[in-house]
Amino acid sequence: MDNNSLAIYGGKPARCAPLPPNYPGAMLMGREEADEVAGVLQAQSPFRYYGPNLQYKVRQLEQTIATDMGIDYALGVTSCTAALITALKALGIGYGDKVIVPAVTWIATAGAVVCSHAVPVFADVDDSLNLDPDRLEEAYDDEVKAIIAVPLLGNACEMDAIMSFARRKGIYVIEDVAQSLGTRYKGRLLGTIGDIGVLSFQLNKMLTAGEGGALLTRSPEWMERAVRYHDQGMFRDRALYGIDSSDETNAFVGQNFRMSELSGAVLLKQWEKLGGMLAVMRRHYERIEAELVAAIPSLRLRTIVDREGNGCSNLGIVCPDAAFAAAFNRALQAENINTYLLYNGKPVYCTPQILRQRTADKDSFPFCYPFRHPVVYTEDMCPTASDLLARTVFLPISPLLEQCDCVDIAAGMVRVYRTLSDEREQNDLSHEQDKTITGGTRS
Ligand SMILES: *Cc1c(COP(=O)(O)O)cnc(C)c1O
Repeated sequence: MDNNSLAIYGGKPARCAPLPPNYPGAMLMGREEADEVAGVLQAQSPFRYYGPNLQYKVRQLEQTIATDMGIDYALGVTSCTAALITALKALGIGYGDKVIVPAVTWIATAGAVVCSHAVPVFADVDDSLNLDPDRLEEAYDDEVKAIIAVPLLGNACEMDAIMSFARRKGIYVIEDVAQSLGTRYKGRLLGTIGDIGVLSFQLNKMLTAGEGGALLTRSPEWMERAVRYHDQGMFRDRALYGIDSSDETNAFVGQNFRMSELSGAVLLKQWEKLGGMLAVMRRHYERIEAELVAAIPSLRLRTIVDREGNGCSNLGIVCPDAAFAAAFNRALQAENINTYLLYNGKPVYCTPQILRQRTADKDSFPFCYPFRHPVVYTEDMCPTASDLLARTVFLPISPLLEQCDCVDIAAGMVRVYRTLSDEREQNDLSHEQDKTITGGTRS
């Protein structure tokens, strides 16, 4: 084997050691989080609303999030799934309602709609892999009450077009910013543009306490409903929110989605690391991107809606076809470059529980609602999502990379891409020749 051969052909990998794991916030956990959690344990007060020596970590976290993101209210909850359900309930959405969800998202977005007793309907994506505003109309009917916009992997949605569509129809917009904390659209932070925004603090996300989530809004009315829904219908600490509602006629049955003080403590310290982390990731992203584009001018990258606001957590390379993408991804793994195909290259409605409309309830409630416009899912209903997802290879950008890692990564990707492109061209050529020969024999 010559020195230049790819690792899949027995050559030396582009990197001898694997790259750091793709958990940005977790990889920056340290002394600060440990000390903050220790404070809660020493005070023996891990519950947010009372205790022997309450430290108010969740409350501080909520106030910090609201101030830093420039929003009126933030509510800590147990997960982003819980935040999505709470958001839908705050907006009064439930049985008999439909909610537009993008064809490409994590299953939680669609699952939360079902758990809220509404039903998701799916809209196709554009080159950014996010909701295509021009496909909203065909997903819409008068049973739709909201759109959940999901900026995937640090890339903003076309929020102006989505908001104006929603305003025209008189429906709500929830921003599911689970994957894109700190990403901006035209200077504005995602999660603060729609009616309600939700964040995730699960391990895979920008910041983490293992689990956790938050809900953001400017509306005192929705905030009261959110607080009630997440706390068994109660509205504790109402003075804190400046919401004057002394009667209990607003009460309704809720859940327990309360955030623990332990999570609050971890997240207070994680939050302080966000700005620095984003800056480092942007530097790495832009360096790798520049080297790739310089070396392969024909390379197609995922369309970034707002380059200045890009969260820079994952670089998407759009391959000529699905087979190329699978081979590219496999070859990069062998080079110790940990790329991946998002959601195994499949739109969210292809998961069996969604496709077959199966729930834990009798009669597949809430799918059994007699909608005037029936809800039908098919595997090929959003062709752009199926096509693009299967041929986009993502490179996670860790805040722990060094400059030399970025050089290794870019060089390895270029070498693999070029080799596979050459092989593909040669294959095409020999197919052409086959065709000529076969054609010749026939005539
Ligand atoms: C991870 C994720 C969620 C769910 O977050 P949890 O905190 O795990 O409930 C929801 N939406 C999107 C887009 C996600 O990526």
